[in-house]
Amino acid sequence: MKQPKPVKRTNCDDCTAHCCRYVIVEIDKPVNWYDFHNIRWFVAHKDVSILKDKNKWYVKYATDCEYLDEHNRCKMYDKRPVMCRRHEIETCEMSGYEDEHDTEFRGVDEFDKWLEEKKMKEKKGKKGIKKK
Ligand code: SF4
Ligand code: SF4
Repeated sequence: MKQPKPVKRTNCDDCTAHCCRYVIVEIDKPVNWYDFHNIRWFVAHKDVSILKDKNKWYVKYATDCEYLDEHNRCKMYDKRPVMCRRHEIETCEMSGYEDEHDTEFRGVDEFDKWLEEKKMKEKKGKKGIKKK
């Protein structure tokens, strides 16, 4: 799914409720061949991507909340889940806040490219170690 562009915002009025259009779940950091193939399997699916920051990995499912109305308003605002209550505009990526997730993989090709670069870096790193 194409991501809307973040702009400076002080309220949510002109946003299309980006924060109500996905769910995100933390997953174990991949460490072996099987784990990496698991990630490839995730991102092979439509509207599923993987996010990673320095220490954590997440799977993101782009799916609209059933309680979002046609005007991008919450139909159960007073009873909305705590996750929604904690999401603040000050730290919202759609209001210009720098997302803490440094990488998002939106398909097998993107992930394979990153994996290949990671392997190259590791190879170079090993070569760089000089014996005394
Ligand atoms: S919190 Fe952010 S993503 Fe959610 S509606 Fe407001 S500006 Fe949009
Ligand atoms: S419950 Fe309301 S605030 Fe929470 S994701 Fe759904 S529409 Fe958005």
